[in-house]
Amino acid sequence: MNPKQKQLLFRIIIAAVLTVVLQFVPVTGVWRLVLYLIPYLLVGYSVVRKAVRHIAEGELFDENFLMVIATVGAFVLGWLSTGDYTEAVAVMLFFQVGEWFESYAVGKSRRSIVRLMDIRPDYAHVERDGAIVTVEPEEVAVGSVIVVQPGERVPLDGIVVEGVSSLNTGALTGESVPREVTAGDTVAGGYINLTGVLRLRTTKVFGESTVAKILALMETASARKAKPEAFITRFARVYTPAVCAAALALAVLPPLFGGGWETWLYRALSFLVISCPCALVIGVPLTFFAGMGGAGKLGVLVKGSHYLEALARTDRVVFDKTGTLTQGVFEVTAVCPVSLSREQLLEYAALAESATSHPIGKSLQRAWGKPLDLARVHNIQEISGGGVSASVDGRQVLVGNTAWLQRQGIVPASCEAAGTVVHVAIDGTYAGYLVVSDVVKPTAPAAVAALKAMGVTRTVMLTGDTAAAAQPIADAVGVDTVYSQLLPTHKVEKVEELLGDPSAKGTLAFVGDGINDAPALSRADIGVAMGVLGSDAAIEAADVVLMDDDPRKLGRAIRAARRSLRIVYQNIALALGVKVACLLLGALGLTNLWLAVFADVGVMVLAVLNAMRALFITERTV
Ligand code: ADP
Ligand code: MG
Repeated sequence: MNPKQKQLLFRIIIAAVLTVVLQFVPVTGVWRLVLYLIPYLLVGYSVVRKAVRHIAEGELFDENFLMVIATVGAFVLGWLSTGDYTEAVAVMLFFQVGEWFESYAVGKSRRSIVRLMDIRPDYAHVERDGAIVTVEPEEVAVGSVIVVQPGERVPLDGIVVEGVSSLNTGALTGESVPREVTAGDTVAGGYINLTGVLRLRTTKVFGESTVAKILALMETASARKAKPEAFITRFARVYTPAVCAAALALAVLPPLFGGGWETWLYRALSFLVISCPCALVIGVPLTFFAGMGGAGKLGVLVKGSHYLEALARTDRVVFDKTGTLTQGVFEVTAVCPVSLSREQLLEYAALAESATSHPIGKSLQRAWGKPLDLARVHNIQEISGGGVSASVDGRQVLVGNTAWLQRQGIVPASCEAAGTVVHVAIDGTYAGYLVVSDVVKPTAPAAVAALKAMGVTRTVMLTGDTAAAAQPIADAVGVDTVYSQLLPTHKVEKVEELLGDPSAKGTLAFVGDGINDAPALSRADIGVAMGVLGSDAAIEAADVVLMDDDPRKLGRAIRAARRSLRIVYQNIALALGVKVACLLLGALGLTNLWLAVFADVGVMVLAVLNAMRALFITERTV
């Protein structure tokens, strides 16, 4: 409980005790009213204040306004008839109990999401005495030189000292066009480096953590609401004034003809109290929020509540291969030089790949095994879906696949090796190739099978790799279709083609890990990124992040989302059903304010408890 919640709970308890005590105080008349106003204001002043503020802001019809009219009405009735004001205080008291429940539930969901964020720490690569050390961004002093690799998030603000690259500034500026930078340009922390390696001199210390940034992002994301939520907002805008008008009519019209205005005023007031759509307004967004928290407990970060709805309706899943269905940890199985020694070929390749975050590059660095002298490497550019180019010892080195080298005017050797062939060219001359091989994630076949079992009609694998390397993996994993040798733009085209499939009813999810997947991730209905192996670019573009890279988590997330959605619809039905019943009874005078308040608070508490089911979820329940 946070201090605010504690304070509210405290106020509720004191006010409740006071109200009970007042039952036994033998004061009448004005003084009785004054005495009852004490617990009323104690528990309700925040509601009154909010109502007044919203009216001043021109937002007349919210639940606070309804509560104020209803309780003031109850006071008026008490004054006119029984001289008892318990009802008025109780209405406010119960309303606040509901509010307390809601804020407690939201707090619980939020904490489980925050805990999740901590799993992926921020880091910065700092140059110290010619070597690169990876440290926490907090430890980097102003004026240090940091290295930012393609696909990584810039950890701190700085000025480019070396390198040319384009940066995705979207997270901070909302701008979708990448910004080109070269030496002398300033770069803000939070941008994502897309193509070249940058050396930056930092200009600020680490201020805002990613946890804070993503939380902020999530809050704006949940502002873009899911359909049922938007439905409720629209609904409330029509519903509240309509109910106010109906109550007014109820208070005025029947007495005009038949008299008995006190009875009808009482009915109109209870009508108002019953009509307050609190259970809907609280229950639906809360369910989505709890659903995000529940997914978080399963290790799935969902960036906004509306993705839960899209996720629940997934019927086509498109996977990237490397790093998504495969482990992305390559073994170098062959080194075949043309002119230079095997040692030299591997060294040049590893140096050129020294700054990449691509799994192939990482495995070449690992295979070389010795420290890399970064002073020998300059102007590294990464061509996603192609390879890297860099100048090593002043020589132009290209490392990449057949198609990309051919576009650079190199004729690579053709070879039938099992695995992914990485060609190397030095100063425009073909220098040989290395063969790397990857293994399927042990969980991948089960993940695909589970998706099919839960009604996903189509599974597709897209890869930049060759058909020879892709087919065995597709067979092992069990996807329906495989498309190979795709550049990032082709991946987007394929995704669009599948999105346009007229026979499909649900949504399309794209699951990927690399920078080259980022465009497809943002294009798909739901982008799903790998949290550990995934590049920052992919994680930024994605709507859903699987924190431990286990593809089985996708199926679980879909199940969890479906469960949340079921709860949302249950809450809508429950709230509307009870509401309509009570409104009819209230209009006919078959219920009193007490029952109305109980119905309202009861439904609200039920809706909140039901919503919390979306949070309390375990791997066994989905
Ligand atoms: P996938 O789509 O399977 O995840 P990518 O699109 O990342 O694969 O890469 C496609 C192909 O491009 C790789 O199989 C490789 O041949 C080549 N490639 C991409 N980046 C690099 C790199 N840094 N070094 C060498 N080859 C690369
Ligand atoms: Mg990949």
